[in-house]
Amino acid sequence: MSANSDLLHRRNNAIPRGIAHSTPVFAERAANAEIWDVDGKRYVDFAGGIAVLNTGHRHPKVIAAAAEQLNRFTHTAFQVMAYEPYIALCERLNARAPFSGPAKSALFTTGAEAVENAVKIARIATGRPGVISFTGAFHGRTLMTSALTGKVDPYKKAVGPLPAGMYHLPFPIPHQGTSVADSLKALDFLFRCDIEPSQVAAIIIEPVQGEGGFYIAPTELLTSLRAICDQHGILLIADEVQSGFGRTGRLFAIEHSGVEPDLVTMAKSLGGGFPISGVLGRAEIMDKAEPGALGGTYGGNPIACAAGLAVLDVIEEEGLLARADAIGKTITAHLEALTGRNDILPIGAIRGHGAMIGFEIFKERGGFEPDAAAAKQVTTRALGEGLVLLSCGNKGNVIRILVPLTVSDAVLQEGLGILTRALVA
Ligand code: PMP
Repeated sequence: MSANSDLLHRRNNAIPRGIAHSTPVFAERAANAEIWDVDGKRYVDFAGGIAVLNTGHRHPKVIAAAAEQLNRFTHTAFQVMAYEPYIALCERLNARAPFSGPAKSALFTTGAEAVENAVKIARIATGRPGVISFTGAFHGRTLMTSALTGKVDPYKKAVGPLPAGMYHLPFPIPHQGTSVADSLKALDFLFRCDIEPSQVAAIIIEPVQGEGGFYIAPTELLTSLRAICDQHGILLIADEVQSGFGRTGRLFAIEHSGVEPDLVTMAKSLGGGFPISGVLGRAEIMDKAEPGALGGTYGGNPIACAAGLAVLDVIEEEGLLARADAIGKTITAHLEALTGRNDILPIGAIRGHGAMIGFEIFKERGGFEPDAAAAKQVTTRALGEGLVLLSCGNKGNVIRILVPLTVSDAVLQEGLGILTRALVA
């Protein structure tokens, strides 16, 4: 029995099915954009721990910063005895806020917790209950974030009743038949049928949908939402949990649109592999919650804060925003070239900002009928050939690439070579 199959057997006996696994192999060690499994097989990592590793596995600066903090103290609870790394990280984030005017930040642990807190802050600041999100959106697996998430199966099935006051608009995806005008029309219907705008606290949107399929929120939509929010006193929340920290060639993906959100949720690559999340927002909104209303025992763990500060340094020192653009161009050119090949599965709808690149597998060349089974086959084949690759999408047919931005050209090319072989029809 291999070490992998032994662990798979133990995993299946000890851990419930509800925690899915996209690969049947188990990590032994990892460095930058490579992972080795417990049987010694090496993989190129195009998944980055689901968008957590923009600075790669175990970036030496991130590890050094975390190790230094590890030797000072690991926990006091920020609410009991505060510490400088939390403050420093918030200062750094506030200075990079994608909106003008004073900013404040609060730190938590997971992406879902950041979204929960952004909604709490929005409700407290506006005194209103309603929150609007989008079809295909993913905001987390807690009960409230499940309610915001725009996909029933598997996230909402049988777990209701979910918190009330959550509404969904269709996310515009032209090749699936929904335009920006359709989304805005649905908002108009919503305001007339279900909830008056004066009862809506916030609209939350991923500037680039993550789990939903790497669909970019069109600037036209974001601009219109901003205007509607301003008209009705609604707050605009950008969920940057997956799209943030350099992935799209900007620190935050919303910067591509020029639209200024009121609150930003962040997690994943902020910690470079350590669990930390946060809400960054306009200071006057962030300050509306009473002392004690926000927080949590582990929120803003000092080791994760030290790692987060190092992540921001690495993004600046290594020019990772420009590197994201360069990686994205290389990947896109490679994929575009594949679309002309008859020996390759029918791929298309290649899209992205920076290095947040997704493409789809269709049933026929030139058509838009999704082929989820083929996407599954591609990720399985890729794994066999030594590439960790994720699919996503409201129809399950999108391949997404989340390679660390610190990847070398050689490893990137190696990964693209494996991807190509996995895409052979
Ligand atoms: N928001 C977005 C946009 C996400 O992609 C995710 C995770 N995939 C979450 C929220 C939830 O984050 P977490 O899994 O850390 O709770």
